Amino acid sequence: MIFDKALNAAPDRFTVIQLSRYTTWEIGGPTASVIVNTLEELTETVKFVSENSLPWVILGKGSNTLAPTEGWHGVVILLSGELAKFSFNGSLLTAGGGVHLPSMSGAACSQGLTGLVFAVGIPGTVGGAVFMNAGAYGSSISELVEKVRVLHPCGSIEYLTAEDCGFGYRRSRFQKDDSIVLNVVLKLSENAGGGNELRREAREILQIRRQKFPLHAPNAGSVFRRPDNGSPPGKLIEDCGLKGHRLGGAMVSPTHANFIENTGNATSSDVMRLIELVADRVRQDSGITLKREIRRLGERI
Ligand SMILES: Cc1cc2nc3c(=O)[nH]c(=O)nc-3n(C[C@H](O)[C@H](O)[C@H](O)COP(=O)(O)OP(=O)(O)OC[C@H]3O[C@@H](n4cnc5c(N)ncnc54)[C@H](O)[C@@H]3O)c2cc1C
Repeated sequence: MIFDKALNAAPDRFTVIQLSRYTTWEIGGPTASVIVNTLEELTETVKFVSENSLPWVILGKGSNTLAPTEGWHGVVILLSGELAKFSFNGSLLTAGGGVHLPSMSGAACSQGLTGLVFAVGIPGTVGGAVFMNAGAYGSSISELVEKVRVLHPCGSIEYLTAEDCGFGYRRSRFQKDDSIVLNVVLKLSENAGGGNELRREAREILQIRRQKFPLHAPNAGSVFRRPDNGSPPGKLIEDCGLKGHRLGGAMVSPTHANFIENTGNATSSDVMRLIELVADRVRQDSGITLKREIRRLGERI
């Protein structure tokens, strides 16, 4: 079996999960996995997988991840317990890498703290958001970052400033190294109009997203990054006549062409082939090269 190496190395340590249940595309076969609740458990796990040459990856909510239908040969590490908690100290918000971003955004609104309302509909974790520099409506998480505490695979801990994180449009240094986002400190501001105003704003954002995005079908948000010339990928794809185009169980969303829907039985290969087909057609028709925003499980790009 694909996960045998991990299970043979430590049968009691890992559990087999189906990645389709841990990714918003609902695609992905079996893998070895472990839930870690404390920094000590995480440090020990990373030491073990490194010493046993097992590939590993931190998985958040899997909302930007394409996992292989045939399963994965490494260890998926899930952050929970004290690594998935957040707390406020005045306008400073400290959150673990495993915190659910929309819940945290909602809590900040209720506290009358502004800055995070843009994230109310981004269905990832804090770690995934920092890794991707997630954003919407002209704001991104990097603008709020005071400090990030990371664990390096060698076991050392480092505190990074926003500048150290190498943030750019959907970019961060974490995409190039193996460091793990343990916690982040975000600087929010008191909202003059209080919590009710922010909650109303959040509800409006969610309403707009329900209309604009195909939230009825499994997807992973925007598939392609916005190209340097600023053209919206959805418009470029729509202009090629690809809205609704299907390949196997994967379909370019008829609602928003930069989304790919799993119509029920899509495989990771259906999705990858559709991504390549779309990128080829856009290149032929407009001369623009689209780059992927979504990531294959465990890849470094
Ligand atoms: C319906 C929908 C709407 C979306 N809308 C938006 C949007 O408006 N704006 C936007 O930017 N994105 C959007 N996304 C994409 C996605 O939600 C974000 O990229 C999110 O930040 C990913 O978080 P995650 O926890 O799901 O990451 P995952 O998919 O679980 O992981 C993504 C990457 O982050 C790494 N990672 C996760 N946690 C850590 C950690 N603690 N330390 C180090 N690395 C880590 C993983 O290893 C992986 O490489 C949307 C997705 C969906 C499904």
